[in-house]
Amino acid sequence: MANLGNPQETIAVLQKYQFNFQKKFGQNFLIDMHVLEKIMDAAGVGSEDCVLEIGPGIGTMTQMLAERAAKVIAVEIDNNLIPILQDTLSAYDNVKIIHNDILKLDLGKLVEEENGGKPIKVVANLPYYITTPIIMGLFEAEVPLDSITVMVQKEVADRMKSGPGNKDYGALSLAVQYYSDPVIAANVPPNCFIPRPNVGSAVIVLHRHQTPAVSVNNEKMMFRLIRASFNQRRKTLVNGLNNAPDIPFSKEQITEALEQMGLKANIRGEALTLEQFAELTNILEQ
Ligand code: SAM
Repeated sequence: MANLGNPQETIAVLQKYQFNFQKKFGQNFLIDMHVLEKIMDAAGVGSEDCVLEIGPGIGTMTQMLAERAAKVIAVEIDNNLIPILQDTLSAYDNVKIIHNDILKLDLGKLVEEENGGKPIKVVANLPYYITTPIIMGLFEAEVPLDSITVMVQKEVADRMKSGPGNKDYGALSLAVQYYSDPVIAANVPPNCFIPRPNVGSAVIVLHRHQTPAVSVNNEKMMFRLIRASFNQRRKTLVNGLNNAPDIPFSKEQITEALEQMGLKANIRGEALTLEQFAELTNILEQ
């Protein structure tokens, strides 16, 4: 099978199957070999690796992964793509196609069954409408994994990498950085896809930390505090947390904790680092 990663081959496959793109599934297929090679390099997939690909489309990246990895598990939601994948991937006996919604699968169980519970690598050109639930789902469910290498909306990649003082710093930045070290590997313009998305894209690699970046005695509470403080960005941290229904601490307790940390009472949540959110949680939970 010729390289699918060029426009002519992709169009030939789409025509052969009279495939219609479904917007609701975030279908923007990659048609640029340079970008595909960059993703392969960034993911660093080797012959021992088991790779989970989310949304293989017509199998362009799946073929490249199958050439490099021990095993590829490709999860695709769209019925109409399954016969295409069976065709484009027929030469590979190390690929397993799963027809399902990635958000409905028990990925811990899948890794247990397919890789004996050993860490996998996730590689994908993600459907942008569910980027955050996919990534947070992988981390929060503690799916054994080494790294996640994904194409996402440029703006989302920037948010993942951002720190205090930047306008795109928020709950996603803190969650991603708690679990991993994010590195942007490439910026990708719309003309590398068919159809063209109306936003810029970027490839980001999330190298999973062996242990989370900070030590906190109640992880769930820390993320509640983080979400509550960014829900009301314009408010001071004390008021933001005080207004949040799921935060059980009084204004006085929060003010006192900030004082103990040497922070001003009128500080905003967006000024706090991950370490400071962890410290605040540990003090409040005492
Ligand atoms: N990997 C292909 C490529 O790079 O050309 C396609 C990428 S396209 C951006 C996203 C893919 O994810 C589509 O094939 C789409 O059908 C699939 N998809 C969308 N929602 C999904 C879901 N919930 N579970 C699994 N796959 C999904």
